[in-house]
Amino acid sequence: MKIVNIAGLALALTIAAGCGNNTMQNSPTNEKKDSAQAVETTDTNFIYVSEQFADLRILRYQVPGFNNLTSKQKELIYYLYEAALSGRDIYYDQNYKYNLTVRKTIEAIIGSYKGDKNTDDYQKFLVYAKRFWFSSGLHHHYGKEKFVPEINKTYLSVLIKNSDKTMLPLRGDEQLDEFITRITPIILDPNVAAKRVSLDPHKDLVTSSSINFYEGVTQKEAGDFYMQMADKTSKTPVMAGLNSKLVKDNGVLTEKKWMIGGMYSKAIERIIFWLKKAATIAETPEQKDALEKLITFYTTGDLKDFDAYNIAWVKDVNSITDAVNGYIEVYNDPLGYKGSFEAIASIKDMEASKRIDAIGKQAQWFEDNSPIMNEHKKKNVQGITAKVINVVVECGDAGPSSPIGINLPNSEWIRAAHGSKSVNLGNIVDAYQHSAGTGLVNEFYFNDTIKERVEKYAGYSDKLHTDMHEVIGHASGQLNPGVGQPGETLKNYSSALEEARADLVALYYLMDQKLIDIGVMPSFDYGKAAYDEYITGNLIIQLSRIKLGNDLEEAHMRNRQMICKWVMEKGAKDKVIEKIEKEGKTFFVINDYNKLRTLFGQLLREIQRIKSEGDYKAGHDLIENYGVKIDQKLHKEVLDRYNKLNIPPYKGFIQPRLVPVMDGDRIVDVKIEYPMNFTEQMMEYAKKYSYLPVEN
Ligand code: ZN
Repeated sequence: MKIVNIAGLALALTIAAGCGNNTMQNSPTNEKKDSAQAVETTDTNFIYVSEQFADLRILRYQVPGFNNLTSKQKELIYYLYEAALSGRDIYYDQNYKYNLTVRKTIEAIIGSYKGDKNTDDYQKFLVYAKRFWFSSGLHHHYGKEKFVPEINKTYLSVLIKNSDKTMLPLRGDEQLDEFITRITPIILDPNVAAKRVSLDPHKDLVTSSSINFYEGVTQKEAGDFYMQMADKTSKTPVMAGLNSKLVKDNGVLTEKKWMIGGMYSKAIERIIFWLKKAATIAETPEQKDALEKLITFYTTGDLKDFDAYNIAWVKDVNSITDAVNGYIEVYNDPLGYKGSFEAIASIKDMEASKRIDAIGKQAQWFEDNSPIMNEHKKKNVQGITAKVINVVVECGDAGPSSPIGINLPNSEWIRAAHGSKSVNLGNIVDAYQHSAGTGLVNEFYFNDTIKERVEKYAGYSDKLHTDMHEVIGHASGQLNPGVGQPGETLKNYSSALEEARADLVALYYLMDQKLIDIGVMPSFDYGKAAYDEYITGNLIIQLSRIKLGNDLEEAHMRNRQMICKWVMEKGAKDKVIEKIEKEGKTFFVINDYNKLRTLFGQLLREIQRIKSEGDYKAGHDLIENYGVKIDQKLHKEVLDRYNKLNIPPYKGFIQPRLVPVMDGDRIVDVKIEYPMNFTEQMMEYAKKYSYLPVEN
């Protein structure tokens, strides 16, 4: 499964893939990398935001650690990078049968139009082109509905007629006028292929979806076909239907497999070409085994081979480089069988790994010094291993719109029998954090001291918060003997309470000398910034994600508001946190960080007691009294203030470019470059990675 930045949320808000939990705060920061742990050479002047249009913002990201790789590792990641991009066409074609036709038309126009490019109409077409590339097709990447350019058909034909005819995807003897007649409704008519994926239960989900997974097949036929195929007695069932298009051939249902010699063969041949090179210089025997099994799967199309590959991939835990490459997520199939192509090449985040190790080694110290009751402390606590990767390239279902966490493989029995890999995409999260810009900080934080502190330190303290939450928070504490699992005792409140518990462990220690002593936190400014952000982020900014009149429902949002409101109430007498209204705007300001820390500790002690004793009533009361209801007046105010900031809800990325340095025909080094322009990258990809023929 993949974990995405929640739609409509312009803030960096990560969900740690490890526990499926949302462990980071709203993080509108421009982190200056002045942490003592910043062993990596990332560019502090790096420009994260490239441009914005429609409801999208285009970001760039850095790859910390890339330049510390050995030349062999760089060569390897270069091959995985090429293998990833080689499959780019597949995802376009999967999303809609004529997406490649439209894309080549767009590329012809952008690349060769001879008319005036400064007109409003041309600019509108350019926005359409960028939206199309962003979504890998003519449907919105998130909403799945078709979007059309704000131009009329006369102008579309002007664009086409004044572009290089040889670049257009004309059929054999097709005349230009015929082509224009054919392509116009595909591009301009919102009713042609209206939805990529239909989830309207009153319609036939298959025939009303324009996803290119089925053709001439009804929902019932497809459902019956796979029902019959499913082996219900098997303990190791394959994911039937994952790698094929289901069609009717002379009235008979047939799978067109995405494999060598089958559908998408031309792109798959290129993927294999690069994977083979990667396998010859794999870092470990396990990695070599996994890559070879992936090649086998692409060659045979046999889903048993896909399972064998996944099992091998899960075992490859020691390599620095890694790849996801294949038909992975099934969200784009209304019936949930077909895997969308996605590819990610990544390297392990060494900086995060060091930090996590340093924290994990102290797990017992954190447990022993926790404010929870002694009988709830573990005598032998082990930190949970969290993993962070930095991606080098993302393609298909993973890019330009990127997940922030991935947890694979998806096969249930493989997960149970062999485990899974669960990772956070560190540099993507970083880019999200940086891209929020200063607008949010300026609007919602009270004064310059706080604003500066948040901008300077909160980016790093977010990471620290996540690490503490994951590695120490969830691992700590124990149940009383005989008390059932929290899911049974605390029922629907158990996940909000568990997240609160892990958050509170992190918050409590973020103002502790220990983190400074073990070298993961340079000063208390980081802890204070984390507190500023937790309070303002959760009492104010997170309300921008909720519709006016609605309650908080999502567990993480509830836990956070609960914590903030509870400490606010308990510290009211001492004005630990003060609500200030200035010029019609509401702010929450922390007056005493140490007292706030004590309050966090008290609440942690109480929530641990609730969990350890299975005290449903107390858990229910905490969440219901503090975590659900929203102050309507404040909510409206926040929405008004937020909307004025004009932050687009969806973000995606320009990918880095890897350039091999050759000595004869041997790669001796690989340089990484960070392109600036989304359109140019899309045109470059068109030139280099257009392997599939258009569907006629
Ligand atoms: Zn968590």
